[in-house]
Amino acid sequence: MGLVVQKFGGSSVANTERIKNVATRVISERDRGNQVVVVVSAMGDLTDELIALAHQVGSNPPDREMDMLLTTGEQQSAALLAITLCSMGCPAVSLTGWQSGIMTDSIHCRARITEIKPDRIKEELNQGKVVVVAGYQGISPQGDLTTLGRGGSDTTAVALAAVLKADICDIYTDVDGVFTADPRIVKNASKLDVVSYDEMLELASLGAVVLQPRAVEFAMQHKVKVQVRSSFKLETGTLVMEAEKMENNRVVSGVAHDLNVAKVALFDVPDRPGIARAVFKALADANINVDMIVQAAMRDERNDIAFTITKDDLPRALPVVERVCREIGASGTAYGEDLAKVSIVGSGMMSNPGVAATMFAALADEGINIQMISTSEIKVSCIIAADEIERAVNALHAAFNL
Ligand code: ASP
Ligand code: MG
Repeated sequence: MGLVVQKFGGSSVANTERIKNVATRVISERDRGNQVVVVVSAMGDLTDELIALAHQVGSNPPDREMDMLLTTGEQQSAALLAITLCSMGCPAVSLTGWQSGIMTDSIHCRARITEIKPDRIKEELNQGKVVVVAGYQGISPQGDLTTLGRGGSDTTAVALAAVLKADICDIYTDVDGVFTADPRIVKNASKLDVVSYDEMLELASLGAVVLQPRAVEFAMQHKVKVQVRSSFKLETGTLVMEAEKMENNRVVSGVAHDLNVAKVALFDVPDRPGIARAVFKALADANINVDMIVQAAMRDERNDIAFTITKDDLPRALPVVERVCREIGASGTAYGEDLAKVSIVGSGMMSNPGVAATMFAALADEGINIQMISTSEIKVSCIIAADEIERAVNALHAAFNL
């Protein structure tokens, strides 16, 4: 007998009709002779609605209380699914995060799982029940409820699959799998049968958000086989697995894009040791994640430094950058928001020269100006104007014959 972890996202459990559909899928997995652990998200946009409610009563709600509130969303769908399963004749029990033994650190609203004690889950499975776990939550050493950051139910599912040594972790969602590009932008984008953990990590953090990046990291560390698939169709989805086990590593697997990009520049920065530290330590201290960094050598021992962050972080970053600008004696700052990042991702890229050149040629042929470039072993990213993103993604999709 195998063990399967199934995760159903908010859209898959958005109403009672859909919860019944989920129950049917759970039962058919069980009928195949597998033990089943199901992880659910909150119904539809409930998490957003609860956040809005909190802000109606308090302008700066304490993180601890937010966790107390938000964990109720997942508990509702877990209980409703267990009730549905029972009424369909399938023995089931719902468990909160803490009942499932999910221990976290005490950083509210973005807690990390530190340990899982799956005894209760195993006990219930051994009694022949389907176990429905409320996703996205755990308990801190102080005994307070915590949440794992937005989209955290993915991480719950992958972490449970790892400790329970599940055969597979099926992530059911409202798309058919991972695509060669966003199908809303590229008409002939196609579903990938398999991607490597590295590729998925790049795709997940580059705006093709079908999986929480932290869940992918977890899967990679613990070698959990993950499948992203549609909860409305029976077809298989996209398998996420080790690159070494894939039959062929494509040079380029997909084109990702991200519109949540802002650029900040510091001009005439003195050219001496410690300057980059001053700039980026101040940003790190303010909890601002920096993505690309470009430093251009200028005249008279002065440089320009430009970097990108998310648009959401821009209001918090600007005062920090202005302060640092004065402290280090730079001549001024500037920022831009109408930007996008387009990236090609592929684990076969490292052994194939000329991939970046092909990318730049495709963008040049479209008359698209590249503002910044960054590369890693499996990706090349370019910052371009936001209104050119559709043309860029389509041109690259065609250039790499995806
Ligand atoms: N309900 C939470 C959210 O919307 C967690 C999740 O869906 O995974 O972010
Ligand atoms: Mg959700």
